[in-house]
Amino acid sequence: MSTSRPYDALRGFIASARQMVAFTGAGISAESGIPTYRGDDGLWNKYDPARFANIDNFFSDPEYYWSFFKEVRYPAISQAVPNRAHTALAQLEQKGALKAVITQNIDGLQQAAGSQKVLELHGNTRRIICLQCRQHQTMEAVHQRLATELPPKCPACGGTLKPDVVFFGEALPMDVMKDALAASQTCDLFLVVGSSLVVQPAAGLPLVANRNGARVVIINRDSTPLDRIADLVFHEPASEVLSAVV
Ligand SMILES: [Zn+2]
Repeated sequence: MSTSRPYDALRGFIASARQMVAFTGAGISAESGIPTYRGDDGLWNKYDPARFANIDNFFSDPEYYWSFFKEVRYPAISQAVPNRAHTALAQLEQKGALKAVITQNIDGLQQAAGSQKVLELHGNTRRIICLQCRQHQTMEAVHQRLATELPPKCPACGGTLKPDVVFFGEALPMDVMKDALAASQTCDLFLVVGSSLVVQPAAGLPLVANRNGARVVIINRDSTPLDRIADLVFHEPASEVLSAVV
């Protein structure tokens, strides 16, 4: 266990916090092998995020999205397991220290690690929803049918299936954003874990917390635009920082 001063300071912040929230981004799941849009992983180069993640393209060319899902998204998500950073956040919640995790990730790894209160700003790719009858299906069930059915249709009504995620060109779910904003306004410790804080409006949440008097701690591999307002900054892997202090 590290005993360096920043680690001690973070332990102190966590111990004295009454309302802590965590905000997670792609960086936390990168350690579980899930590539980011901005990464340069070879598999993902075959598919263009501007196409597979765009809502207009999803409706005009669904085969493109579902081919991407079949070849890249599904294998990445189904094989990924939570890492020590996900587990540490779940433990903090179990101890009563962490009130909520706000996440930009769509991989469901926070819940897989045991987190209960997860505000998913961009949805969850493990849920597939029928746009006609609103029935939900698991990604496993849909993936099985992709061998013979591309794009897949709802088995109940034949309707269009869509992953329950926010595409480029779609608004964030308003109820979730409202809860995330409220959590940011009322917390006294705001922990950024693995986000480069560039995707708005979510990236503004640490500022909201800061303006309401909360401490802000940023754990991210690279520097972020909000490092200057943070009380503590760690440019280290989240799994190392969190497993050392929890
Ligand atoms: Zn249906």
